[in-house]
Amino acid sequence: MMKKLKIDRDKCSGCCQCILVCPINLQIEPRLKEGIIPPRSKMKGELIMRVINGINTLLHPEYCYNKDFDFECDRCVQICPTGAFQMVEE
Ligand code: SF4
Ligand code: SF4
Repeated sequence: MMKKLKIDRDKCSGCCQCILVCPINLQIEPRLKEGIIPPRSKMKGELIMRVINGINTLLHPEYCYNKDFDFECDRCVQICPTGAFQMVEE
């Protein structure tokens, strides 16, 4: 069964921890290792998710679990302090 990322907008505090811990985001933007999330205008690509107006927003959920990244991961779900980041089966 496929799993799908979901963010509960009512629970998200906009803390960015999920963004910084995601291994695919880190491949896209190595500056995340230093805790820096550059603005869109300073990046060539775009992250899987980004905090917009204080709430985490999925921009490219298709990057997660795509054919080039064949591994199990739920780091974003595990680190989320409010339970906003979820992985649901569809
Ligand atoms: S499940 Fe892993 S790869 Fe997918 S968005 Fe979350 S941290 Fe990134
Ligand atoms: S989804 Fe969770 S970890 Fe990510 S910004 Fe929102 S509260 Fe923080």
